Amino acid sequence: MEQKLTPLELARQTLIKLSKIQSPPTPENYRRVYDEISGIRPSKQSAILNTSLEKVLQEKGQNNPQYTSIAKKIATLVERQDASNLETQLRTLFQQDANTEDTVKWGALLRYLLKQLDVNHSGLTLSRKKDGINHVILHFGNDSAQLGQKIQALITSWGDGQAGIETPAVEQSAISSTAPVPSTPPVKAHEASSASSNNDNKLVATAWRDMLIRTINLVVAPQFAEIPSALARIQALIKRAEATETIEEVEKLNDALKSTLLRAEMQNDSQHRMQEALIQILRLLVSSMGELTIEDKWLHGQLAIVQEIISKPLNIDAVYNAESSLKELIFKQSNIKPGLLAAKETLRSMVSTFVSRLADITVSTGSYQSKIQTYHDQINATENIAELSAILESLVVDISAMNEDAKQNHEALQETQKKVEFAEKQIVELTVKLDYISEVAHEDFLTGALNRRGMDEALTREFDRADRHNTALSLAMLDIDHFKKINDTLGHSTGDKALAHLAKVVKDILRSTDVLARYGGEEFVILLPGSKQDDAVEVISGLQRELTKNFFLHNNERVLITFSAGVAERVTGEDADSILPRADAALYLAKQSGRNRVIGAEPAAPKVQ
Ligand code: GH3
Ligand code: MG
Ligand code: MG
Repeated sequence: MEQKLTPLELARQTLIKLSKIQSPPTPENYRRVYDEISGIRPSKQSAILNTSLEKVLQEKGQNNPQYTSIAKKIATLVERQDASNLETQLRTLFQQDANTEDTVKWGALLRYLLKQLDVNHSGLTLSRKKDGINHVILHFGNDSAQLGQKIQALITSWGDGQAGIETPAVEQSAISSTAPVPSTPPVKAHEASSASSNNDNKLVATAWRDMLIRTINLVVAPQFAEIPSALARIQALIKRAEATETIEEVEKLNDALKSTLLRAEMQNDSQHRMQEALIQILRLLVSSMGELTIEDKWLHGQLAIVQEIISKPLNIDAVYNAESSLKELIFKQSNIKPGLLAAKETLRSMVSTFVSRLADITVSTGSYQSKIQTYHDQINATENIAELSAILESLVVDISAMNEDAKQNHEALQETQKKVEFAEKQIVELTVKLDYISEVAHEDFLTGALNRRGMDEALTREFDRADRHNTALSLAMLDIDHFKKINDTLGHSTGDKALAHLAKVVKDILRSTDVLARYGGEEFVILLPGSKQDDAVEVISGLQRELTKNFFLHNNERVLITFSAGVAERVTGEDADSILPRADAALYLAKQSGRNRVIGAEPAAPKVQ
């Protein structure tokens, strides 16, 4: 009969066995050997645990078949005492459980459901929709994971709404287990859901940032392709955008982007204006050509085609057409030119022959003989139509004093003179046209600054832009000091040159986006978009310094030109009639306080509503 050992003896035996089998005396090893020696069936406790676990899993498995299969696997592994796989299985089970819970983001799903109840789905009434929801709750109310999926499926089955609320992509992805945002972590309690929405926000922000970078690269950068310094600035901006992480960085980037976009718009504008100005020149050129080629009907036809094309808004095909029509026109003209020269030559020799005949007739009136010979030589020598006209005029005077024999020829000469007068008239008309061209242009020819018309347009354009972008803009009014003295001592034409010199120095110093206009005789206006009053005062003072270095030279002598200026910063919405007098008042103060000064204007009076 087996002798029952005392607990003390059992403990001693257990330790002896452990040392024999060289097992470390861990609690698990100790219990296993102890049970073995004492004859306790080792499977008893684990069997209890296994049974309970299996029971719970079977119950859970009624709603989720996954649990049943895991329960079976666990039972088998316990039987085999396969501890490591058992552990893996248990981990899978908890993972599964967590995932099942996390699939549904209830807050987002319920919001979506409420919205979709309000949306008009064709063929579905509100009560039909409610019936559907009740049905789903009845069948899947005990399984939150299934319930979420079924509600989602039900909403999907309602189809596309016709009028109403769109579900933002982010919201859709939040409720769908197949959402294309794989890195979204599983949602657990509220802190997990806020982590998830943070993550979503980050993804959205990154997507927007990348889109912005692409837009700058594709749309903004090409506009500065011809200006290396600006292009370098844009590339630096893109680099900054790529590295932007914090909200502070985004705000700084926003400021930089704002000023870059402002410059881009101005650049665009100036290109547009240049295009317009070129078209205007082309129009005038074409109409003058029409006048000069009255004889040729075919040329008129060609010109009409070109005029027709450039009178409409331009497109690239129209420009190509205009170009090829012009090429044809030039080709025709180059063919005509030799003929024209030949015709002139014929005319000259006709007049010459006519004068020779006259000489023959008036041979008796000896005193005129030598005069007529002189006329003959002069006519042969002249290339100039005005000169020819003058020669003919004095010829006519002489001839009128001649005898009756010359009378007939006299009339013929008058006829010739009429023709010359006609040509002269045409020249006058063309000159008037040229004056008109100057008048419609926007530039002052003496200084190359904008004229009043150009200035008015620039004021309107820049004021609008400043309001649109909510950016600063300052205006300076300059008046040359004691300019009358320069005129009086050096002469008016030197005064003109001094004006052109000043305008050149100003243009060299100003930014390309600043605008210089000639306001009147020796007064100029400078527009400084993007500059606040203090900065503008600084820029204009810089101009004064530059003028002391960059002298105006008269007969190789240095002539110092100084100016006084008033600078006013525009307040939002302020118009030219208000800011110009403010700048003018400051200019007046600058003159009063000794000239060669720059003074900032008083702030604009608040608008009376
Ligand atoms: P202040 O310092 O007070 O401005 O003195 P000022 O002599 O410059 O002022 P004032 O207005 O008395 O004289 C301006 C002179 O500018 C008078 C006019 O003959 C001259 N002027 C105006 N337009 C032109 C121009 O286009 N060419 C030239 N050479 N002189 C001009
Ligand atoms: Mg003046
Ligand atoms: Mg002056």
